[in-house]
Amino acid sequence: YDFQSIRLNDTIKDSIALLQHEIVSHNITFTADLQDDMPDIVASRDHLQGVWTNIIKNAIDAMENSRGQITVTSRFANREFTVTIRDTGKGIPENRKNEIFEPFYTTKSSGRGTGLGLSVVHRIIKQHNGYIQVDSKVGEGTLFTIRLPEKP
Ligand code: ADP
Ligand code: MG
Repeated sequence: YDFQSIRLNDTIKDSIALLQHEIVSHNITFTADLQDDMPDIVASRDHLQGVWTNIIKNAIDAMENSRGQITVTSRFANREFTVTIRDTGKGIPENRKNEIFEPFYTTKSSGRGTGLGLSVVHRIIKQHNGYIQVDSKVGEGTLFTIRLPEKP
């Protein structure tokens, strides 16, 4: 981990750019609502970019039909950053919400998923003294909320 004073929104924009082709080819409506007057965050730039990339990639994978939507937001309030990633994909059953963060838990066919993404995400957020929460409804979609302190 290389903790530095960085712009949180830059890490989000970088991962969106990385996934741009995949988003377009899946006909996904993508909205980014990033607060522009935020202070810098002390964080590991590469690790945070990996977090957003993993979560957005999962959101793309969760979209079965076309007209899927993904919305990413960032906010700063009370010395804390909040990032949300919402999708209109297939959702996560209530009794699987804890398991998704376990290593090797995947519902994707073999070769398409390792089940490691969210366990890595969870570890990175912990290393930043942050929190990750998931809200989901099967058939409606999923909301990931990540909260990060100004300094870990
Ligand atoms: P992988 O993507 O390799 O399967 P992850 O750790 O990234 O592994 O995710 C684990 C599982 O959590 C996925 O296989 C999927 O079942 C579920 N999941 C994660 N994100 C979403 C999402 N946005 N919508 C629906 N299911 C999800
Ligand atoms: Mg994944």
